[in-house]
Amino acid sequence: MLTVKTFVEGPVDANNYLLMDDESKEAVLIDCSSARPEFVNAVKDTGCKLKYILLTHGHFDHILGVEKFKEEFNVDVYVSQDDLNQISYAPQMLMMFGGGTIAKAPEVTKTVKDGDEFSFGGYTIKALSTPGHTKGGMCYIVDNKLFSGDTLFQGSVGRCDLPEGDLDEIIKSIKEKLFTLPDEIEVYTGHGGKTTIGFEKQYNEIINL
Ligand SMILES: [Zn+2]
Repeated sequence: MLTVKTFVEGPVDANNYLLMDDESKEAVLIDCSSARPEFVNAVKDTGCKLKYILLTHGHFDHILGVEKFKEEFNVDVYVSQDDLNQISYAPQMLMMFGGGTIAKAPEVTKTVKDGDEFSFGGYTIKALSTPGHTKGGMCYIVDNKLFSGDTLFQGSVGRCDLPEGDLDEIIKSIKEKLFTLPDEIEVYTGHGGKTTIGFEKQYNEIINL
């Protein structure tokens, strides 16, 4: 079985998802928005063997725990090449949003591109490139579950007014890459509650404008 644990962390309440194969305990963490000891310990308490951290995008509110998690779990962190810029903006963005200060941006050196696959336990998680919220926005899919970052939200889509955001691009990504998936796929979003592809195809207010 695949267990998904949700941790809401960081200055803008981002969802971090720990996906663990129950048999082998191998795990993947999607997004890493805080270095809070309680968050680190909660992940440790699951007994998981963390194999990868996959970032949905490089915005500050999804990456603030990266350095701490690298140190604690000795694990590689992946982001799209196209979002390395976004990571470098993190200190300024954090200040702009009043979330505190960090001395420097987290260091991420591994990159992920469309179609890349990462295995853990008996599962393989696959990357889908979905630009729009940022240029390098990625979704990840495994076991009928889609991790949509800030691309697709329950009833909405990610904002496109920040640097390198593009509304036409996000709508194209969602229509071509996400709405072609089966209706029953569960969508775990970057902020807020869960949804499904079928529900969003019918009711998403932005896409159906
Ligand atoms: Zn974002």
